[in-house]
Amino acid sequence: MSQGRDLTRRQVISSLGAGAAVVGAGAALAGCSKSKDAKTDEPKDKGEANKDVSPAPTAGSGKSYEWKMVTTWPKDFPGVGTGANALAAAIGTLSGGRIKVKVYGAGELVPALGVFDAVSGGKAEMGHGAAYYWKGKHEATQFFAAVPFGLTAHEMNAWLMYGGGQALWDELYAPFGLKPFSGGNTTVQMGGWFNKEIKSLDDYKGLKMRIPGLGGEVVRRLGGTPVNVPGGEIFQALKTGAIDATEWVGPYNDLAFGLHKAAKYYYWPGWHEPGTTLELMVNKKAYDALPEDLKAVVKYAAAAATLDMMAEFSARNAAALRQLIDEHKVELRQYNDDLLREVGRVAKEVVAEVAQKDPLSKKVYESFDKFRQQNIQWGHISEEGYLRARALTFA
Ligand code: CA
Repeated sequence: MSQGRDLTRRQVISSLGAGAAVVGAGAALAGCSKSKDAKTDEPKDKGEANKDVSPAPTAGSGKSYEWKMVTTWPKDFPGVGTGANALAAAIGTLSGGRIKVKVYGAGELVPALGVFDAVSGGKAEMGHGAAYYWKGKHEATQFFAAVPFGLTAHEMNAWLMYGGGQALWDELYAPFGLKPFSGGNTTVQMGGWFNKEIKSLDDYKGLKMRIPGLGGEVVRRLGGTPVNVPGGEIFQALKTGAIDATEWVGPYNDLAFGLHKAAKYYYWPGWHEPGTTLELMVNKKAYDALPEDLKAVVKYAAAAATLDMMAEFSARNAAALRQLIDEHKVELRQYNDDLLREVGRVAKEVVAEVAQKDPLSKKVYESFDKFRQQNIQWGHISEEGYLRARALTFA
């Protein structure tokens, strides 16, 4: 993105705000490959995701590759940055050292928001970030990270792998010379920290809240003032009253920031980021030139990275939540249904407007929205139903 030049560390942290980051307590139209490569390169949305794992004839090719992975994360950032490191390491190990990936933190090779252009232009073969950072490239990118009242982490994986999402993502990125994969997910985030209770839409009026992206636009339409405070400054801004409220990520990262020392109420659920997908983008020319087995290494290492990050956030968030409540006496608050209904109505308008920007955004939105609609009942009677049942006895 044009504004992505020479970001300072603080600006980088700020840029992460809409999504996943943790401050460590811290596309040239590439066209369709007509080669045999196309078989594993295509998205699996017809129930065939696991049927292409047999070794391809090119397996064992002696050629080796030294690749660079640029990231939007400050180096070694817990959760997201360490997730990118692990993904790069897994590609090295699984390929028997035939692909060596060197990871660069934000600003080391290119600025955080220079990742897309760097991989698109071939300066680096891989990039790790979150697709909504590239809305300046195309509005539809936002659907491949998170949108308010969108899909959960589990549903995002389902949409991408079996609901047509990956094919749309490929279509969106191909003109930029990129091949995208899911390469992580923060799982559902928290609603945020407040020093007053939020009971009705009136409570948003005049509220100065650190909440970037489409979620911030929703807050604006509700009469609040969304601000983008750099991650490293959130605590002070909240403590001094420069802002009234903030969202960040979830218990694990929020605890590390000490946000509980600057705000009284911790609200749930994080309607603005229900399951933020992180991406592994690969220069398409470089990817298409790989032998079949190495393509599979990249693909399945990315899938494993998604699984791993979901597991990590789930485990660490649960533990950190207990700590926040038991040790720090944080007061949890649930947004009430009347409020959520109205916030949801506004969010629906905001997201639908993104769909009006161009034909591809409309196509992506329609797929996404249809998938969401058909998953509501299933989600209700499966995960939600079970969790409710369990809580009757074990909560
Ligand atoms: Ca966030």
